[in-house]
Amino acid sequence: MAHPLESKLHFGTLAIHAGQEPDPSTGSIMTPIHQTSTYVQSSPGEHLGYEYARVSNPTRTALEGNLAALEGARHGICFASGVAGIDAIMKGLDPGDKVVASDDLYGGTFRLFNQVFARYGLKFEYVDMTRLDEVEAVLAVDDVRLVWLETPSNPMMRIIDLEAVADMARSRKIETAVDNTFATPYLQQPLSMGIDLVLHSTTKYLGGHSDVIGGVVCTNSDEWAEKLRFQVKSSGAVPGPMDCFLTLRGTKTLHVRMQRHCDNAGQMADYLSRHPKVSKVYFPGLPSHPGHELARRQMNDFGGMISFTLRSGEVADVKRVLSATRVFSLAESLGGVESLVEHPSTMTHASMTAEQRERAGISDGLIRLSVGIEDYVDLEEDLGQALDKAL
Ligand code: PLP
Repeated sequence: MAHPLESKLHFGTLAIHAGQEPDPSTGSIMTPIHQTSTYVQSSPGEHLGYEYARVSNPTRTALEGNLAALEGARHGICFASGVAGIDAIMKGLDPGDKVVASDDLYGGTFRLFNQVFARYGLKFEYVDMTRLDEVEAVLAVDDVRLVWLETPSNPMMRIIDLEAVADMARSRKIETAVDNTFATPYLQQPLSMGIDLVLHSTTKYLGGHSDVIGGVVCTNSDEWAEKLRFQVKSSGAVPGPMDCFLTLRGTKTLHVRMQRHCDNAGQMADYLSRHPKVSKVYFPGLPSHPGHELARRQMNDFGGMISFTLRSGEVADVKRVLSATRVFSLAESLGGVESLVEHPSTMTHASMTAEQRERAGISDGLIRLSVGIEDYVDLEEDLGQALDKAL
């Protein structure tokens, strides 16, 4: 149930309270983990709002209300993972429909589009959406159903103009979906810029502690909400109550964690851009980043993700650095409190073809950081000693 004051509350207060009320039966301040598969009925069809836990569960309902409030959405629909949320959106399209997507996406999104949904008759075309003229050209000639994009993109940190793309699409009755995982609603609220669907891997910053997998789609469209709930019921990729509880616990500190991620990443990007062994840093907070001005306009800060390349360009050098960090752990994923480092071309983006990676600009020399919320000095010292190992 929506908090009575929800429409007046600010982000940090919503993060802590939205979607949740103390449990009426016990007064428990925390939302209970409703570990049940079914719910009792007093006579057929007469129940307290819940029938079967694939369809709905009170712990999930609280999380859905919380996430919808953070995105400024009427509806939030939770899934077992971020890719399960993307899967449900794609199943809301019809065979033969065309999706135009940005060409720098999470590798698993590419895999789902090209190796699963392309086999079921959806068509995909990829464009560099930082180039609005290219987007305009593709939308003008083709019968496009949906535009899909990430900004900041994974892993090249490209910034796409959400309002411009939403306007262009809407004028042609094309719908738009944004993977807002990197930014989180703390930094960017795409629905307020005219986007129709927002997807999150809640596994990342929203959960925030690297202990749970989940996804959510937020929308103001009643029609899409109905389609997505139909997918929840029919395909059943639902998160369990414990996972919903953990994610809800995570979102309570989203605003505090996210600000520290941004502060640490800003300092780290600055350090890397002055480091003699680093050739290029991809971080929208740097004034040299081509999307810097746009990011200032459409985001509240620049996020906790950084990619960079080494001056030597040698893969052996990259491996030396990746194996030498002690505070940064070498691991896939992002958005947890701890700092992670990874190698996109062999890890998160290995499911793309070499040609797709080249097109997106993902070289074998690229390193991606998820800058955590540890004390910044320890992070800089750790990366510094690892970079000393490079030629
Ligand atoms: N979107 C982005 C930007 C991601 O980085 C990821 C995972 O890394 C996903 C979606 C998929 O999320 P999940 O791993 O929760 O399925």
